Amino acid sequence: MNSLGYRGRFAPSPTGKLHFGSLVAAVASYLDARALGGEWLVRIENIDPPREIPGSADLILSTLEAFGFEWDGEVLYQSDRFEHYREVAGQLRREGMAYPCACSRKEIGAVAPLGHDGYIYPGTCRNGLPPGREGLALRLLTHDRPIGFEDRIQGPITQSVASESGDFVILRADGWFAYQLAVVVDDQDQGITQILRGCDLLHSTPRQIHLQRLLGFATPVYAHVPVVLDGSGKKLSKQDLAHPIDPDNPLPALGMALGFLNQEQPPPDLDKLEDWWAWAVRHWQIGRVPKGEALRFP
Ligand code: GLU
Repeated sequence: MNSLGYRGRFAPSPTGKLHFGSLVAAVASYLDARALGGEWLVRIENIDPPREIPGSADLILSTLEAFGFEWDGEVLYQSDRFEHYREVAGQLRREGMAYPCACSRKEIGAVAPLGHDGYIYPGTCRNGLPPGREGLALRLLTHDRPIGFEDRIQGPITQSVASESGDFVILRADGWFAYQLAVVVDDQDQGITQILRGCDLLHSTPRQIHLQRLLGFATPVYAHVPVVLDGSGKKLSKQDLAHPIDPDNPLPALGMALGFLNQEQPPPDLDKLEDWWAWAVRHWQIGRVPKGEALRFP
């Protein structure tokens, strides 16, 4: 660990090539880590093979490299970590903090309101499986005491996880581990102290803090940058022509990412990638990043 104890990370899912929204998150987390003398790790979140697009992990890494990102240590692949997730899920189950659930999405949807991430689980299997049903998924018990944290960009965030998200899945019925479990276990095992990522995960954070507390893990410091919307207010599509990510010509996209983050722009004659980064690190000000969960750009 570096002397200041800052260790950040960028954790893309290999579900396609790097798009402008992820580039913004990568640039912000990299600049913040380097500006504060910290380390910056890359983790490929390939825990969801049904959603993975073959080749995209390598493509994301080569794009990051072409854009001049320099990560510390080896890239961690979640596909190498299933044993760790299994161990933690087993521990939660043994200690009575997680329980098997037999409900299908359709059954839950018929009775439950929508929460931050899908339906708020009504607790059907909390006190035992209905007769004759098999519990394939594992859900984590939640409670209604508010869980809050101070986001470095968005300010104070509080959520009652039980009523706003519900008991959530840590092991899916199809046998794959859930993102919420994997991310908490990996951030702990990698010694991550600072998490800077997109606001699409802002409302997942209280669930992750709940899980950290149950497991006796430290809670990192969080910062969430706004999600990028296109000019018509929609989330960026895969065919995002307005924000091209060209590995052969990284400076325009990097400049746009700085623009979105409301940072000062380097002088136009600074055309070497290395000099560009050194300048951007020196001028990084997290206080200038706009507050808000989503923003149109341009
Ligand atoms: N893998 C997630 C994504 O690509 C990011 C997870 C995180 O930063 O916690 O959206």
